[in-house]
Amino acid sequence: MIDLRSDTVTKPTDEMREAMKGATVGDDVLGEDPTVKELEELAAKKMGKESGLFVTSGTQGNITSLLTHTQPGEEIIFGRDCHIYRYEVGGYASLAGLSGRTLDDSEGYLDLSEIEEAVREENIHHPETSLLCIENTHNVAGGVPVDFDYTNKVSDIAHKKGLNVHLDGARVFNASVALDEDIAKLVEPVDSVMFCLSKGLSAPVGSMLVGSEEFIERARKNRKRLGGGMRQVGVIAAPGIISLKEMVHRLKKDHDNARRLAEGLKDMGVDIDPNKYKTNIVMLDTSQFEMKAEGLRVKLEEKNIRTLALGKDLMRFVTHREVSREDIDKVLNIFEEEIL
Ligand SMILES: *Cc1c(COP(=O)(O)O)cnc(C)c1O
Repeated sequence: MIDLRSDTVTKPTDEMREAMKGATVGDDVLGEDPTVKELEELAAKKMGKESGLFVTSGTQGNITSLLTHTQPGEEIIFGRDCHIYRYEVGGYASLAGLSGRTLDDSEGYLDLSEIEEAVREENIHHPETSLLCIENTHNVAGGVPVDFDYTNKVSDIAHKKGLNVHLDGARVFNASVALDEDIAKLVEPVDSVMFCLSKGLSAPVGSMLVGSEEFIERARKNRKRLGGGMRQVGVIAAPGIISLKEMVHRLKKDHDNARRLAEGLKDMGVDIDPNKYKTNIVMLDTSQFEMKAEGLRVKLEEKNIRTLALGKDLMRFVTHREVSREDIDKVLNIFEEEIL
C-alpha cells in the first residue's frame, strides 16, 4: 500500500521506539517528568518562545490556546477554511464559548483590510474581538506556506487593534523548510504557536503549544481542565525530541515528492498547477475526469494507493516519510495506464 491520505499515518521510527523504552519518567502533573521537560524546553527554544507545553493532539493544543487567550463571550477571527473552524468539532464555540467571525482564506491568506474591518468597534451590541487565528501551512488551500512578511503584517494589524495572534502551525516546519526561513523568525510575530509532532515529523502522539512563560503557565491549567494532565508521559514525549532533532531536515524530500507528483500529472496533460504545491500536499480537481473523486479514490485503492476524496471533485495526496520517490513513480504509472 502506498498511503497518501495524510502525513498522520507515519509510524514511529525504530530509534523513537528505543527512546520510548529508555525514557526517564515522572509524574508530569507534578512537574516531575524530565523527558517531557526536555521536549518542552527544546520546542520553545526552536520556536524562539519562552515556554512550551506538550499536548495530546493538535486539536487539544488549539483549544487550550483559545481558552488561554480569550474569555467566554468574546469573538475570534479566522478563515472559513481553517482547521480550527472546520475540523475541530466546533470546540471554539462549545468549549471556549466564543463566537467566530470567518473571512475568506481560500488561497491560504486572510485579506489584511478584511481583518481590520472584522474587528468589532466598542458598542453595547458587540462582543469583544480578542484573537486572530492564522494557519501555516494552510492545509485546505493545498499546504500553502505562509511567509514571514505576511505573518508580520497580519500580526502587526492584530496587535494594533488589541488582539493576540495564535498560529495553528500543525505543519509549520513544512513551511519553514519550503520557504527556507528560520522557524523562530517565521513565528516571531505571533503570540502562540501550536505544531504537530505526529504528522510529517513522525512521532506517534502529540503536539506542542509554545508562547510566553506567563501564557504557558495559564495554558497548562487549561490543558488540565480539558483532561490533558498526564502522568509518566515521558514515554510518549521521547519520540517528539527525535522529531525535533532529526525529522525536520528530511521534510524537503516530502516536498520534492509532492512536486514530482504534481509535475508528473501535468506532463501527462492533467489540469494541475504544480507551482501551487510547495510543501507535502497536492490537490487534484477531479471534475476534469469522467469519474468523481470518490470513484477515483476507490479505483486507486484497488491498485494499492490510498488517497482522500475531499468532496465531490477534490482529491488530496499527502507525501511523508513512508512515501518514496519510487512510490510516486508508481502512482504516476497507474494514472497513465489506468485513469487517463
Ligand atoms: C492536523 C491538524 C490539526 C489538528 O491536529 P490533530 O493532532 O489531528 O488534532 C490542526 N490544524 C491543522 C492545520 C492540521 O492540519
